[in-house]
Amino acid sequence: MAPRQPLVIRGGHLIDPSQKLDRIGDLMIEDGKISAIDPPAGQLPLGEPTVLDASGLVVTPGFVDIHAHLRVPGFEYKETLASGTRAAAAGGFTTVCAMPNTNPVIDSRSVLEAVLEQATEQAVVNVYVHGAISIGQEGVQLAELGDLSDAGAIGFTDDGIPLANSKLMRHALEYATQLGRPVSNHAEDPALIAGAAMHEGIISSRLGLPAAPRQAEEIMLSRDLLLAELTAGRYHCIHVSSGGSVDLIKRAKDRGVNVTAEVTPHHLTLTDALIAGRTEPVSATLPPYDTNTKVAPPLREQADCEALIKALADGTIDCIATDHAPHALHDKDVEFADAAVGFTALETALASVLSLVHTNQLKLATAIELLTVGPAQCYGLPAGTLKLGSPADVTIFDPDEEFIVDPTSFHSRGKNTPLAGLPMHGVVHHTFVNGAHVYDRSSPESGTLSA
Ligand SMILES: [Zn+2]
Repeated sequence: MAPRQPLVIRGGHLIDPSQKLDRIGDLMIEDGKISAIDPPAGQLPLGEPTVLDASGLVVTPGFVDIHAHLRVPGFEYKETLASGTRAAAAGGFTTVCAMPNTNPVIDSRSVLEAVLEQATEQAVVNVYVHGAISIGQEGVQLAELGDLSDAGAIGFTDDGIPLANSKLMRHALEYATQLGRPVSNHAEDPALIAGAAMHEGIISSRLGLPAAPRQAEEIMLSRDLLLAELTAGRYHCIHVSSGGSVDLIKRAKDRGVNVTAEVTPHHLTLTDALIAGRTEPVSATLPPYDTNTKVAPPLREQADCEALIKALADGTIDCIATDHAPHALHDKDVEFADAAVGFTALETALASVLSLVHTNQLKLATAIELLTVGPAQCYGLPAGTLKLGSPADVTIFDPDEEFIVDPTSFHSRGKNTPLAGLPMHGVVHHTFVNGAHVYDRSSPESGTLSA
């Protein structure tokens, strides 16, 4: 590829927690890399660089999502690598890590390599892939973790299906740790959540829906943390949703267990009360039992949200991950108990996180850290920084600009979100990946690899 013209992003509010950068400045990109911050006039490249005026906007490392369901292979009617990565770019994410609960499951070198090859052809952002722990995600026989790791798996998980077999989890931790890769688990006790459609509490009693207590998560998370301690293994807690889980992680970290943790935007900002419906604002009303409120682990209570937010501020939880889970309309257009779980989240994650900033529950720089260097470090990814020489993965957004969530405008094939019609704040204007302009808000269809 011919070297692209140098680009100067001028006058934006640069926030890069990886180098404690938080000030107004200019960012220069050359040959797909960050080449200077505040270049002196003499250092400007020969010829006219392209200048992008970022005054009034925030300029950060591209966001990193370590937990996204891109549905390839097998569920292309829900999402493709093209649609999922365009959604990522529109949401400010320049790196996404795909989950392996596909058909076939990503449990072998050949399937994983096929996904990476498709990503080369279709993806507009960086794509990494998690490998499965067990063959077919059946929880019986360990997959060839070494082969998967060689092929590029960044970690191992049977996410989507809880891994109940303690011996298998022990072995996974032992092998994965030798490979230097984290293991994660959809930590919900299968017996306790069997038949459950939501979190067990006052709301579930009122609605008469089958429910499971937060202990379903805490029991399995406790086991995993104990096995991580036993094996000196590297464990990553995904979609932590309960205040009790925060306590467990904090205690494990205090004992020196090699553990990191993520939380989703929805578990930080939404509660089970939403399943009883929403009447305000009028543009965003939801009837009771709307299946777009169904997710696993389920939305919990206000006290859980508060504990999770506190855990972000004090470092018990290391990062935010979307658990982007697109579904087709027919997956959700059924009775609540039968509906598929999950939300389309890549295009609303920033606004959800910024809602915590706008209500003074989280500092802006902390929010950016949790979306950039925080997740990158959990998996050792070369991303999430504007340090000189780094790939020019850059996101430019207006944190205050209001928009109304309109799923019909999502780039994702999944329109399933409980946020439809809500006014929110925080609009991505530009996304760059390796210096390529993969998303431009003024022409949102423009994103291509070579743009
Ligand atoms: Zn999960």
